[in-house]
Amino acid sequence: MFIDARSLPDDEKLDADIAIVGAGAAGLSLAIALEGAGLNVALLESGGLEWSEEAQDLAAGELGPQTYATPESVRLRYFGGTTGHWGGWCRELDAVDFEPRDFVKLSGWPITKSELEPFYRRAQEVLHLGPARYDDSEGVAALAGVKLPIPRSSDIEPVLFEFSPPIRMGEVYRDLIDKSDTRCFLNATVSDIRVSDDAKSVTALTIARDGGKPLSMSVRHAVLACGGLSNAQMLLNADAQVAGGLGNATGQVGRYFADHPILIGYAAVLSFGPEAGDVFATNDIPAGGRRYRLAFQPRDDYRRAKGRLSCLATIEPGGPSFSNGAFDRWETRWFGQSETASALAALGKPGWTPRVHMLNAGLETRPDPESRVTLTDARDRHGVRRLKVDWKLNDRDLEDYLANLADLGRALSASGAGMVRIAPDARERWPAETNWGHHNMGTTRMGADAATSVCDGDARVHGMANLWIAGSSLYTTPGAANPTLTLVALALRLAETLKREARA
Ligand SMILES: Cc1cc2nc3c(=O)[nH]c(=O)nc-3n(C[C@H](O)[C@H](O)[C@H](O)COP(=O)(O)OP(=O)(O)OC[C@H]3O[C@@H](n4cnc5c(N)ncnc54)[C@H](O)[C@@H]3O)c2cc1C
Repeated sequence: MFIDARSLPDDEKLDADIAIVGAGAAGLSLAIALEGAGLNVALLESGGLEWSEEAQDLAAGELGPQTYATPESVRLRYFGGTTGHWGGWCRELDAVDFEPRDFVKLSGWPITKSELEPFYRRAQEVLHLGPARYDDSEGVAALAGVKLPIPRSSDIEPVLFEFSPPIRMGEVYRDLIDKSDTRCFLNATVSDIRVSDDAKSVTALTIARDGGKPLSMSVRHAVLACGGLSNAQMLLNADAQVAGGLGNATGQVGRYFADHPILIGYAAVLSFGPEAGDVFATNDIPAGGRRYRLAFQPRDDYRRAKGRLSCLATIEPGGPSFSNGAFDRWETRWFGQSETASALAALGKPGWTPRVHMLNAGLETRPDPESRVTLTDARDRHGVRRLKVDWKLNDRDLEDYLANLADLGRALSASGAGMVRIAPDARERWPAETNWGHHNMGTTRMGADAATSVCDGDARVHGMANLWIAGSSLYTTPGAANPTLTLVALALRLAETLKREARA
C-alpha cells in the first residue's frame, strides 16, 4: 500500500522489521522478493509516484574535473528510480569478472558467479527478459537467420545483450506494491541513520518530508537502496554519532567509484561482405520474440591469458554507408587519404559494396580508490550534505581496449568478414572525450577485507549487525556489462539473507 509521508501527523510512531530506503531497481526487487514472508516491510521513497522538480533537486551535486553527467541527471528520484529512463540493455557479468586476477589490483568478489546463478534466473523475470542466452550468439543468430561474422571460438567472441522492453519498474510494479502488505512511504526522504550506543547496529531512520517535522522509524534491519551514488552519500552523511560516517572506519566509503566509459567512434569496422554487413546494418537481432544485440568481447580465458580487461564493443546505427558518398567526409579520418574509395571497394566480396560502421564500446575499468564520491559543505533542504563525484580514468584501461580492438580486427580479417580501423587520435581523445553509461558502481564495494571494502559478501556493512546495501555500489569490480541485471540478482539474493536474519 502507498502512504504519503507528508500526510502523517508529526507524532506518528513508525516501525519495521525491514526498512528499504529507495524504490528503484534494487529496492523494488527486494520488496517484491520479500512479499509473503510474513515480515513487516517498509519501503521509503524520497519522491512521489511521478517525477517532480522538488524531489529531483535532492539528487543535485558537484563534479570533479573529468567530464561526467551531473549527479542530478545520472539518476531519477521517484518511485521506480532510474528505471524511469534506463535503456534496458542487459547482460550478465562473466565468471572471470568475479575472480581475483593478478593483473587487476583489488579484484575478486567475495562471491562467485555460480552463487549468483539462481538469482540471475529470477532477475530475468523481474526485468521481463527471456531465458538467459547471453553466450548463445550462435543459437540466437541461427534462430534469426543471420550468420555471425566471426566464430564463437575467436579470441574476441561474439556475445549478446538482451533488451528489457525496457520496463519502467515504477509503472510495472505499482499495482503489486499498492495491493501488497509492504507499506511504501512516498515523499519520505531518509536524512539520517541512528545507531546504538556501541554504533554496531542501526536503531532508527530519520524520515524528512516537506510540510511536517521529521519522523522516526524504528527498524530491525535497514537496507540502503538509494542508487550507486547515494548509498555512499547516506553512509557518509550519517556522522552525527560516528565520526566519518557509518561503515567508514577504514575510510573506504565512496571510493572506487566507477562507470563504464562509453567510447563512441574511437574505431570503425569496414564490412567486406554480407556476413558482417547485414548483421551490422540491422543492428538488433530479433529472435523468439526477444530483442538481442551482438557485441564483441575478449573471451574469459583470453582475458586471463593476456592479463587484459574486458570491453563490449557494438556496432551502432548511424555510421555512414561506404556507398552513400559520405566516405570523403567521414571515413578518410579512419582509412587514410591514400586508401581511396575504389581501393577499398576492391576489398569487397563479389556483388558486395563494403560498408563502414561505427564501432562503440563500453569498457571495464580497474578499481581506483581515488575515483570517489565525497560530501560537500552544501546541504539540501532536508539538511543532507550534497555529494561530489570525482571520476578518475587511467590510461592503462584504454590500452586494454585498443589491444582488444586490434584482436577483433584480426578475427574479422581471418574470417574474411571485414577489418577494424582505430581512430588515429584515439589516445589524444581519452579521457576528455569519453561518454559514460550512467552506471554508478563501486562506492560501497563488497570484499572480505574491511581495509579495502565497505560490505561483506552478504552485502552487510562491515562492523554493523543490521545495515545492508542493495545496488551496484556493491560491485567489487565493474566488469563491462551494464549493471542493472546483476544488481537485481544481488537484491534478490539479499532478500533470502534477510528472511533468514529477520526470522532468527
Ligand atoms: C539514461 C540512463 C540509461 C541507462 N541505461 C541502462 C541500461 O541500458 N542498462 C542497465 O543495466 N542500466 C542502465 N542504466 C542504469 C540503471 O538505471 C541503474 O543501474 C538502476 O536504475 C540502478 O538501480 P538502483 O535501485 O540502485 O538505483 P535507482 O534506480 O536510481 O533508485 C534509487 C531510488 O532511491 C531513491 N532515493 C535516493 N535517496 C533516497 C533517500 N535518501 N531516501 C529515500 N529514497 C531515496 C530514489 O528516489 C530512487 O527511487 C541507465 C541509467 C541512465 C541514467
